[in-house]
Amino acid sequence: MQRYDCLIVGTGPAGLGAAFHLSDHHPELTVLLIDKERMSTGGLRNDCKMNFTFPIGFPLEYWEKQSTEEMIFLATKYLPPKILTTRNIAVYKKRADRLGVELLEIRQSHLGTDEGLNLINELMENLGARGVSISLNERMEDIRQQERCIVTDKREISYRKLIIAPGRKGFGFLQKIMDKLRIPYVDNVVDIGLRIETREQYYTIVHDYYDPKFIFPDKVRTFCTNSNQAFVVREKYQSQSGRDYFSVNGHAFSEKRKSNGLVNFALLKTVGFTQPMASGQEFAEMLGQLVMLMGGGKPLIQRIGDFRLGKRSKEESFTGDLYDFEPTLKGCTPGDISLAMPARILRAIWKSMKLLDTIVPGIMHPSTIMYYPEIKLYANKPQFLDQYFQAKKDIYLIGDGAGTSRGIVAAWASGIRAAKGILQNIEVKHNS
Ligand SMILES: Cc1cc2nc3c(=O)[nH]c(=O)nc-3n(C[C@H](O)[C@H](O)[C@H](O)COP(=O)(O)OP(=O)(O)OC[C@H]3O[C@@H](n4cnc5c(N)ncnc54)[C@H](O)[C@@H]3O)c2cc1C
Repeated sequence: MQRYDCLIVGTGPAGLGAAFHLSDHHPELTVLLIDKERMSTGGLRNDCKMNFTFPIGFPLEYWEKQSTEEMIFLATKYLPPKILTTRNIAVYKKRADRLGVELLEIRQSHLGTDEGLNLINELMENLGARGVSISLNERMEDIRQQERCIVTDKREISYRKLIIAPGRKGFGFLQKIMDKLRIPYVDNVVDIGLRIETREQYYTIVHDYYDPKFIFPDKVRTFCTNSNQAFVVREKYQSQSGRDYFSVNGHAFSEKRKSNGLVNFALLKTVGFTQPMASGQEFAEMLGQLVMLMGGGKPLIQRIGDFRLGKRSKEESFTGDLYDFEPTLKGCTPGDISLAMPARILRAIWKSMKLLDTIVPGIMHPSTIMYYPEIKLYANKPQFLDQYFQAKKDIYLIGDGAGTSRGIVAAWASGIRAAKGILQNIEVKHNS
């Protein structure tokens, strides 16, 4: 059985952040990265907007400003901070303030899906050149902690230190690992909401601020705005009960490509449950399945014009007159979102849309499309043994799946933090 000083599961930004930090400081350590896919599946590969401002992407229970800023700085060595310029922010901020809405001004770069792929390839080549081993198309399936080894679909691999960073899609897998290792955890929050798609002319702020971060009352926020050549996409998830459901998302290509004149962004409400609710994740997954039932196995879409009149959208709502642009995500079911979304969440999101329409007039144009559901799940929060995200002796759980980050840069930073913990605890054999 092969043995590595550090075995990293997941080649998303969390796994990469750890691998680069380890090889920067101790190139003599043997490091293996594995991934069940042929390429990182997360945000590096989709859209690749990177936020370099605390606390965007950093769950506040784990991160504080000063040390996080140091790690953001370290991340910029590999994640190019080509910061986008912003304009007229004071004007939007003033309008927002009057309504009790906060507009966060952040340092952000946008590579686009095409350039994100190039970045992944560069990073992987760089790691390869440093002697870090990479095994793609290999899935971790189990762990045998006593023997310090993991079981993949191909072999058994032994480790001195193990980092598991399976991303949001891997949260169910991480949950099983935590159960097996008896890592105590508490239920995490979930984000539930809509993706909005409209013409750029109805959301002109994107010309001044690529991904404006508005924070509305009642834990609603704008998230992941895409423009230029922007598309809504759907991602398939499997619930813990084994049933499939979709969550929508969005991405855009780099500015090298011609604009399609559309913009999309999410409006998400954070929902946290207390006793006796057993699992917020199951609640969100059931909402996803409800949409599968109502939409005949597809996400729902509705024009704002129909929604305001209390009417469901129909096939004909997507042609002609005021409803004059086609949804970029084909194969959704026109319907009535208010039948599928809990009233408490819908009210908060609808109120936020009205506030947003006052700050950036236009978004409530009748042609604007709402897609449902957009769901962000995070694994239950592990109880960590230390500040380095060590959850069991020599086992570190990081990235979005473990709830230590919510974005590319934060995931990278969580990798750095785990690597720092490992470097403090590992005996390094020098060759000289
Ligand atoms: C469509 C989309 C667009 C996004 N756009 C942005 C954006 O523009 N900006 C931003 O900041 N964030 C964005 N995000 C969020 C961003 O992707 C995450 O915050 C970030 O990638 C989390 O990093 P991670 O390393 O924790 O997980 P991931 O990047 O998801 O990587 C996890 C990796 O682990 C692998 N894996 C999972 N389970 C196993 C297993 N059992 N065995 C082996 N490998 C496994 C997966 O294949 C995957 O490659 C987007 C997410 C999606 C889905």
